[in-house]
Amino acid sequence: MASNNRCAGSDGTPKLEERPCPVCGEEVEVFLRKGRICEESICPKCGYKFEIQPEPVIVPREVPDKAE
Ligand SMILES: [Zn+2]
Repeated sequence: MASNNRCAGSDGTPKLEERPCPVCGEEVEVFLRKGRICEESICPKCGYKFEIQPEPVIVPREVPDKAE
């Protein structure tokens, strides 16, 4: 029995980057993963909240049942 517990962070650890606040222009540190915000950050200057940007989920097309 092989333990197949893969580390959850195998798809990339969050990177800390500075993003300009769209409201006041302040540089705010946000956590990015694959170029998307993966943790909420609050602008220390104006309180703007950088929302988490979820990855687009690719939903496989439903295969119609061959029910006849
Ligand atoms: Zn701001």
